[in-house]
Amino acid sequence: MKNFRFECLINGMWRASSDGKTTPVTNPSSKKLLANVPSLSKSDVQSAIDSAGKAFELWREIPARKRSDLLLGLANLIIAHTDTLAATITAEQGKPLAESRGEITYAANYFRWFSEEAVRINGDIIPSDSNSKRIMVIKQPIGVVAAITPWNFPLAMLARKMAAALAAGCSFIAKPAPETPLTALALAALTLEAGIPAGVVNVITGDAEMIGAALMHSPTVRKVTFTGSTEVGKILIRQSAETVKKLTLELGGNAPLVVCDDADISKAVEGAVFGKFRNAGQTCICVNRFLVHEKVAPQFTDALITRAKQLVVGDGMNSATDIGPLINNDALAKVTRLVESASREGAKVNLPPAPTPAGSTFFPPTVISNITPQMSIWKEEIFGPVCAIATFANDEEAIALANNTPHGLAAYLYSTNLNRALSLAERLDFGMVGINDTSISAAQAPFGGIKESGFGREGSKYGIDDYLVLKYLSVQS
Ligand code: ADP
Repeated sequence: MKNFRFECLINGMWRASSDGKTTPVTNPSSKKLLANVPSLSKSDVQSAIDSAGKAFELWREIPARKRSDLLLGLANLIIAHTDTLAATITAEQGKPLAESRGEITYAANYFRWFSEEAVRINGDIIPSDSNSKRIMVIKQPIGVVAAITPWNFPLAMLARKMAAALAAGCSFIAKPAPETPLTALALAALTLEAGIPAGVVNVITGDAEMIGAALMHSPTVRKVTFTGSTEVGKILIRQSAETVKKLTLELGGNAPLVVCDDADISKAVEGAVFGKFRNAGQTCICVNRFLVHEKVAPQFTDALITRAKQLVVGDGMNSATDIGPLINNDALAKVTRLVESASREGAKVNLPPAPTPAGSTFFPPTVISNITPQMSIWKEEIFGPVCAIATFANDEEAIALANNTPHGLAAYLYSTNLNRALSLAERLDFGMVGINDTSISAAQAPFGGIKESGFGREGSKYGIDDYLVLKYLSVQS
């Protein structure tokens, strides 16, 4: 990969922090130091904002077809560098290499998809009340976009945002998570290689609170797109008031997976394994709450335990590994707390976690039943490979339990009765519902939530709207 440096990309140049400060990045599996990345000063952040401000004037004037070609070129470069990018993701994030490779394809798909959308930003002509007047609507890029991204999908979460913003004609500043900045810097290097002009993409690292505030308070930044916790999302909403910034927020979830009594149990179990254990349970659309009809609960639970026992926990670079480490000690402490409190409160730990070796953050697959809705493990996002199973007696109860959360990102349900499945899906208060399916993410589908899971959609034909503003032209002849 040409030009790849452990430095920030500002105005097409690699930059250290002006005061020389750095932050370490470590491998969550081996705990070894991978790199030190800049911890930028406030003035460095301002230079990234200025760079994006200048580049916006240039990028918005580049014809859509040319922007599209550049994005397609970037998609192809990402695919060509799959091995390096996948190794980087596994090193800094911990997920198994096969999952990292999947993330590369998924991320590249966003650049491909939005390269196709870049040339379809069509306006409207609306009949007026007079023959001497025309009403036209055009769509224009909103301006400088800042993206704040999490560590669980270091490439894909950035790709989703960057691809749509660049396709719309916006310039871009990315602030990746401190745990996983290296993948973002690698993507920055590829944007240069793809020929995207200097300043159109800037990647900055350092103190989240300081950078977040600088981006939020800047009048130059017209939009912030964020994926992360509901807690930080609420801070951004408050901060956005000052400059009336447009936001896209993809916040926490608490996904239920409803297994009806007429479900194909083996399919439901396979869906559960993918929807729960992928990325060690650290995705915002991971199944958090299993809701299983009481008639099939023993059968489902036994089959899930059998499958969970087969999963191999270990270093993501090992090809046999199914589940890598949790991202850090805080994550381990949270998952441990939730499992211990459920056990204390009377839940049945069917497949107990094996003891974690001192100093490591590996957490083995765990299956817990007899869960009640009062338990913390039911209410909080677990973000670990733990299945919490409760039962229900009828569809009314299933819907009431599933919807009883402030979150509304993803939900899943398994039933072989299509009518029943569709009517249940319509009643689930979530932005996305997988019917007999837990693999729901795709560049052409609208990803996003309702309630405290946020607003705005990423990907799909709707995704680009978040980066555009409508302008109405009233033309009198
Ligand atoms: P998680 O708990 O999964 O790390 P966070 O919401 O804390 O989720 O982090 C998601 C992203 O938000 C990361 O890039 C992180 O650095 C950033 N972040 C954390 N706190 C703030 C803040 N106060 N302002 C702006 N960004 C923040």
